[in-house]
Amino acid sequence: MVAAYDAGVIPVEQRRLVRTEIPGPRSQELHRRRTQAVAAGIASALPVYVERAGGGILVDVDGNRLIDFGSGIAVTSVGNSAPRVVQAVRAQAEHFTHTCFMVAPYEGYVAVAEKLNELTPGSHDKMSALFNSGAEAVENAVKLARYHTGRQAIVAFDHAYHGRTAMAMALTAKAMPYKYRFGPFPGEVYRAPMAYPYRWPTGADNCADEAFDLFTSMVHTQIGEDSTAAVIVEPIQGEGGFIVPPPGFLTRISEWCSHHGILLIADEIQTGFCRTGDWFACNHEGVVPDLITTAKGIAGGLPLAAVTGRAEVMSSVHPGGLGGTFGGNPLACSAALGTIETMESDNLCGAARHIESQMVPRLARLRDAYDVVGEVRGRGAMLAMELVEKGGTKKPDGALTARIARECHREGLVVLTAGTYGNVLRFLPPLVIGDDLLAEGIDILEAAFAAST
Ligand SMILES: *Cc1c(COP(=O)(O)O)cnc(C)c1O
Repeated sequence: MVAAYDAGVIPVEQRRLVRTEIPGPRSQELHRRRTQAVAAGIASALPVYVERAGGGILVDVDGNRLIDFGSGIAVTSVGNSAPRVVQAVRAQAEHFTHTCFMVAPYEGYVAVAEKLNELTPGSHDKMSALFNSGAEAVENAVKLARYHTGRQAIVAFDHAYHGRTAMAMALTAKAMPYKYRFGPFPGEVYRAPMAYPYRWPTGADNCADEAFDLFTSMVHTQIGEDSTAAVIVEPIQGEGGFIVPPPGFLTRISEWCSHHGILLIADEIQTGFCRTGDWFACNHEGVVPDLITTAKGIAGGLPLAAVTGRAEVMSSVHPGGLGGTFGGNPLACSAALGTIETMESDNLCGAARHIESQMVPRLARLRDAYDVVGEVRGRGAMLAMELVEKGGTKKPDGALTARIARECHREGLVVLTAGTYGNVLRFLPPLVIGDDLLAEGIDILEAAFAAST
C-alpha cells in the first residue's frame, strides 16, 4: 500500500536557520570523504551536504536550513519532493521501475510525450522523444536536424551552453571549465555573436539589428544557407549569464531560418517549464521553434529530458535510430506528470511572474546603490545581476561575484554564479518559495553587498 500523502503540506519547516558555521562539522566530515571518493572534476558550488529539502528550504546534515535560490540549477521548480511528484513516483515504483521503452513500452512515456506536444510552442502536429539529460536531448536534436535536412552544419552562439557530452561541448562556447583540454570536438559547428545588449560594442540600441546581420553574413560566407541544418539557441542564455536578447532578435532568426529551410532548435532546458513566467521562454515573443529541447524543470528533480518538434522532422528517422536504455524511465515519466499537474493546477507560471515582481524592484535598488552592479536582467524567476569593477568600466568582476556568493552561503542563502566571465549572480528560486523567504534571501544579498564592496 502506498501511504496517503498530503498534497498540500511541505514537510520541511519554511524558515531559515543557521546553527553552525556553514559548512558545518558534519558537512566538513562528509566533504573529507568525498574528496577521497569522488572525482575531482566534479565540483560543488557550496560543500553543504543535504539531508532533506522542500519548498524554498534545503536542510543540511548539521541541521542548518538554507534558503534556496538555486533549485538545483532550475530543476526543482515545483519544490523538492513536491507532494504530487512524490505520490506519483511512489505509486510507479511499486508497479515497475524499468522495462526499457525500446523493449516493452508503457503509458507514462506516451502521456509525457502527449503533454509536451500540447504545451510546447505552436499548434502544428508535434512528436516527442525522451532522454535522460539535457546534453542527450541536445545531441538528439542535432541528429534529427541533420537527418531530416540532409545537411550538416549547426550554428550556435557566443556564450551558449548546451551541455558536456561531445557534441554538446562543441556547441557550448566557454572553454573553462567546460571544454578546456577535452577536444577534439565534433566538426561542422559554427558560432555567431550573441545579441548581448549590455555588452554590444555600439550600444544596446543597435544590438538586435547588428547581431542579426553578423549572424546571417556568417552563415552565408562561412557555411552557405543550404548546407546549414540547424541553428540552436537558448531564448534566454543560462550558464552564459542570463543574457536576454533584445526584442525582435529571435523572431528574425526564426523567420530567416524558415525562409532557408534551416531548423530552429530552441534549447529551453533551463528556461522551460514556467521558469520565465510562461511555459516556455519562446512564448514571450511568439517564436515557434522547429525543435525544442527540455530537461531541468520537467520532472521535479528526476532525470528526464526531451526533444519535441514538428511531426515531419520527428518521424523522419528510421525505427531504432534514436533511443537509449533509460530514456523516458517510468519513474521519471511519473514525476514529470506530477510536475506538470502541479504547474497547471497551482499556476506556477503566475508564481514565476510574482517572484519577478517581488525581486526586480529590490535588485534594481541594489543596482542604483552600487555602481558595481552593471545590469539587472532576466525574466520570471530567472533573474541575474552582472557585476563589474567600480567606476562604470563594464570590466567583469568575477572575484567580487565569488565573494558575494560566498558571503550569502555563509548566511544560509544558496545563490549560484554564471557568465562567460564568472561575474553574474543568478537567482533561480523554486517557484513555490514563500514571499517571506524570498524577501529574507534578498535581505541577505543586500548585506552581502554591504560587506563585500
Ligand atoms: C543544463 C543545460 C544543458 C545540459 O543539461 P544536462 O542535463 O546538464 O546535460 C543544456 N542546455 C541548457 C540551456 C542548459 O541549461
